[in-house]
Amino acid sequence: MSGMIISGKTGDWEIVCGLEIHCQIISKSKIFSGASTQYGADVNENVSFVDAGMPGMLPTLNEECVRQAVKTGLGLNAKINKYSEFSRKNYFYADLPQGYQITQFEHPLVGEGFVKIDLEDGSSKDIRIERIHIEQDAGKSIHDISPTKTFIDLNRAGVGLMEIVTKPDFRSPEEAGAFLRKLRSIVRYLGTCDGNMEEGSMRCDASISVRPVGSSELRPRAEVKNVNSIRFAMQAIENEAKRQVEAYDNGETIAQQTRQFDQTTGKTKFLRLKEFSDDYRYFPEPDLPPLVFDDEYINNIKSDMVELPDAKRERFVKELGLTPYDAAVLCETRETAEWFERAAKGHDAKKVANWMMGDFFAMLNEKKISLEESPITPENLGRLVDLVTTNVINGKTAKDVFALMAQSGESPDKIVEEKGLKQVTDSGAIEKVIDDVIAANPNNAAAYRAGKTALMGWFVGQVMKQSQGKANPAMVNQLLAKKLG
Ligand code: MN
Repeated sequence: MSGMIISGKTGDWEIVCGLEIHCQIISKSKIFSGASTQYGADVNENVSFVDAGMPGMLPTLNEECVRQAVKTGLGLNAKINKYSEFSRKNYFYADLPQGYQITQFEHPLVGEGFVKIDLEDGSSKDIRIERIHIEQDAGKSIHDISPTKTFIDLNRAGVGLMEIVTKPDFRSPEEAGAFLRKLRSIVRYLGTCDGNMEEGSMRCDASISVRPVGSSELRPRAEVKNVNSIRFAMQAIENEAKRQVEAYDNGETIAQQTRQFDQTTGKTKFLRLKEFSDDYRYFPEPDLPPLVFDDEYINNIKSDMVELPDAKRERFVKELGLTPYDAAVLCETRETAEWFERAAKGHDAKKVANWMMGDFFAMLNEKKISLEESPITPENLGRLVDLVTTNVINGKTAKDVFALMAQSGESPDKIVEEKGLKQVTDSGAIEKVIDDVIAANPNNAAAYRAGKTALMGWFVGQVMKQSQGKANPAMVNQLLAKKLG
């Protein structure tokens, strides 16, 4: 049970929350014009006459944006609507030169679906998707150049967005956080959105209300706009729900309203009373025809889909024998999962996973580098595991070889060869070292024989040290027991 109960003076309350996520579509050009979508360009460099709302300019739909949204819908297990249409949402704002936004209203591109989220206690829950529609983004007002003027940057105006709307299925901040992480992972796997919340390419609005535990009513909600990190979204939900409980406790009512998240306090601030869809005077967009798909179009996109994180995780557990936890960590990004698969191919997958989750990730962290910059290739990590499983080197030496691989990028075979690190499995050679150690330490040998068996570890350590760590530890244990016994 992951629901959050808020205890107030008037009893126990539960959270009812739905999310709307605006995801910038990955495409080379904007959704209704040929202008570039490149991030970080100079101010107003990527603006066509269409984006600037010049009179007489007509939108032309970028089909790539449609394909990307259909792909996302399929990734969220959703129904793709074979008929959809664009609508005008009318409102006046400086960053919207057309005076309206081209969006979808009554007939969205994608219908109902679901996303499975994984919770900390190991349980999972399906969050229902209500719809996904596509629309154009607005520009950006810049208020901090002049104290008396506002400037406008239209680079973002007309960039394609997917608006993903969930049902009010979240009962705790934790569930919302798990959903946002899963959604980000899915769109990144699909390559349909880069999911960078800090850069604004994934923005979250949360609709929050509370109700007495056990009731099924839906009370007026507050919509918190444009939260730009998962942590902030979770904070906003918790604090807004607590604020509402306090208001009800004091006998107040909550009006449907739009609020803003304040990063410094973690709380929400009143912005305006909520506008309703009537206020926008939606009507069908006269400049664009409806979208009509056949099965072939949808199947074609389906056949182009990559394996998604949930399916990959399941396969790693079932076919490669990983623990669910290891599989979850390795599948969080497509890059990590694919790197692991390359490393594990033809080797002991479970051991490769252990190396990755341990020394390998620690090495990336320490060097502050990404997976792509790793000096150790996946093939070389797989090979290192082989050298241990085939007894060419022991586990202790493998750690040293790994450190050398991280320094030089050399293959483990070359390092073992050059440094002479091959494990000693010649029992005659090991026995010789054991005899020397026992002869040099007669007191400890006598103590061991008199019953102080805890000294075994000390003897093993001495023998390993004498052999420069290269003796096969299992053989050392076995031969020592025989000689001391
Ligand atoms: Mn929208």
